[in-house]
Amino acid sequence: MHELGIVYHIIRDVENVARAHGVRRVSSVTLLLGEVSGVVPDLLLDAWRWAVDKKPIAQGAELVVEPVEAVTHCEACSCDYATVEHGKTCPHCGSGETYLLQGQEVMIKQIETPDEDPADAVPDGPSDVPDAVDAANPLHIA
Ligand SMILES: [Zn+2]
Repeated sequence: MHELGIVYHIIRDVENVARAHGVRRVSSVTLLLGEVSGVVPDLLLDAWRWAVDKKPIAQGAELVVEPVEAVTHCEACSCDYATVEHGKTCPHCGSGETYLLQGQEVMIKQIETPDEDPADAVPDGPSDVPDAVDAANPLHIA
């Protein structure tokens, strides 16, 4: 199951970030999910619920999926258009000289810790938790 593999990646990243910041519990993870990423949100959520309870740090944590619309740019006429509707052919000038601007993301946007987190292991308090994981490509953190 494709989605389960992705969930494992996400959980591993969450664990790494949490450890780096001395966080013991994570209450929710917000994920940016591109329209043409090939990931089915419902399957992802099912896989999340199944996998997350096996990880003490993320037990009961919620996965919030934030959809990202797919947008393609046309080099011939410099317009941007909806990828899902029109595919690789520009609807304005008919050119095939196009490339995807956004819509393939599978990226952690935010990791939240519980408010009642004791936070004694966090020197600067819970606000030290990054509100955005390195945007470059968090799914490839070693
Ligand atoms: Zn065009």
